[in-house]
Amino acid sequence: METRGLLKNYGSTKAVAGLDLKVETGQIYGFLGPNGAGKTTTCRILTTLTKPTGGQALVSGFDVVKEPSLAKKGMGLVPQHLNLDPDLTIYENLKLHGMLHGMAGDKRESRIREMLEFTDLWDRKKELAKSLSGGLKRRLMIARALLHEPRVLFLDEPTVGLDAHTRRRMWELISQSHRRGVTIFLTTHYIEEAESLCHRVGIINQGSLIAEDTPQGFLSTT
Ligand code: ADP
Ligand code: ADP
Repeated sequence: METRGLLKNYGSTKAVAGLDLKVETGQIYGFLGPNGAGKTTTCRILTTLTKPTGGQALVSGFDVVKEPSLAKKGMGLVPQHLNLDPDLTIYENLKLHGMLHGMAGDKRESRIREMLEFTDLWDRKKELAKSLSGGLKRRLMIARALLHEPRVLFLDEPTVGLDAHTRRRMWELISQSHRRGVTIFLTTHYIEEAESLCHRVGIINQGSLIAEDTPQGFLSTT
């Protein structure tokens, strides 16, 4: 996954200001920066939800502007804000997602079961999404994002607002997702989160990458 000279202006605000990123396949890449740095905007461009003002972005080899539907097939997204269907059950939320992704019945059902077991939600599959705690909602969002077997998983501030214990459980689930063979791009403003999860960390401020290293590299120079 790669961006070249990526730009996004909102009026006079340069949300993304000429971003050059390279994320190796198979890594967990952490995109670390303060609020307003441009993390969500970058994530939205990479996942085809927002069009850039300029520059280029490739995900799994597909240009997100010129080939959005091809690029989209190979990616999963957990957006920052919860966007489950509150009045559907856990199972129904996944089934709907699978149908929207054109997954055939048998394949869809076996994959739903696999993802519910993976996220430890199988026994709760008949519960309504709106009745779940924040941590369970986030687990369901990961199950949903992985359902169609993406090669790249985008997580926008995956643990914001969670308590320390629930945050640790999410970190475990993210590591386990990575071990299943998915490349992960996650945004965060928690240094600790980047350190414990990521192979490589890019620091973004005012829409530009200001440093990039391994977490260990950052620790040894500071
Ligand atoms: P982060 O995710 O790092 O907090 P964002 O990407 O959300 O940063 O925002 C980067 C900048 O762009 C901020 O100044 C924000 O207010 C602005 N911005 C983001 N989205 C919009 C939008 N839809 N309209 C106008 N300004 C926006
Ligand atoms: P973040 O916490 O990462 O800055 P927000 O919660 O501010 O993200 O953004 C939520 C939604 O509002 C996003 O779609 C974002 O693009 C949009 N947004 C963010 N900042 C602005 C802004 N200044 N004006 C208009 N829309 C914005």
